Amino acid sequence: MSSTVAATHAVIFGRPGCGKSSLAERLGADYGYSLVRTGELLRAAVRRGDDLGRRVEGLLKSGNLAPDELIFELLDGRLKNHHEEKLLFDGFPRTMGQVPQLKQLENHHHFTIDTYLDVSVSHDAAVARMTGRRICPSCGATYHLLAKPPVSTGICDIDGAKLEQRRDDSPAVIEQRQRVYEQHAGPILAHYQTTYPTLFKIVNGEQSVHDVYLETKQVLGLSFSL
Ligand code: AMP
Repeated sequence: MSSTVAATHAVIFGRPGCGKSSLAERLGADYGYSLVRTGELLRAAVRRGDDLGRRVEGLLKSGNLAPDELIFELLDGRLKNHHEEKLLFDGFPRTMGQVPQLKQLENHHHFTIDTYLDVSVSHDAAVARMTGRRICPSCGATYHLLAKPPVSTGICDIDGAKLEQRRDDSPAVIEQRQRVYEQHAGPILAHYQTTYPTLFKIVNGEQSVHDVYLETKQVLGLSFSL
């Protein structure tokens, strides 16, 4: 059933490789959501080589999670003085410790999450997708060799940079990231499903990219608002 009011502040959940980053980018481009992506904020810190980046570089390479306090610090900084009307969180909360952090951020920065969206895919489907993933090292845009290829092979459509495979998309690290997700996700999803049953939605992420997008737009109440 479609919502009648369009979502303005949403969180997208899903295992690594479920396609949520591409989905978030498309929603951002089509409907003006500002993306708040902890993975991308961390990778940007690593690229800058600042103090925080040096602290998390090893964790990212191994597929393990950054500490909760650091994630909060990063998001608090990202949201300070923000004037964006529509926010889409991708990759947060990722531990039960980050669940109260989201509440705190909502209170501090004056917004309320109105949709918790789970993009559901199996372990095997997610692993297959991750092996084809490519990323722009300059702007962070994500592509997929089969599902979302760039216009020119190996080149970012947005800024022309040479696309790369993420270091944490190697087979061993992909499996580790799936294990980490499986360890943490169950209680987080159960928490939001129980606490906000009307705001919690599940999208079948194993459909075609087109159909996942249509279903997502429907549950976000965006079907007719472009
Ligand atoms: P992602 O791009 O969301 O797949 O995140 C890439 C990596 O960044 C993860 O494998 C973690 O190492 C780290 N990361 C991203 N978001 C979080 C978070 N909310 N908490 C802890 N670590 C995170």
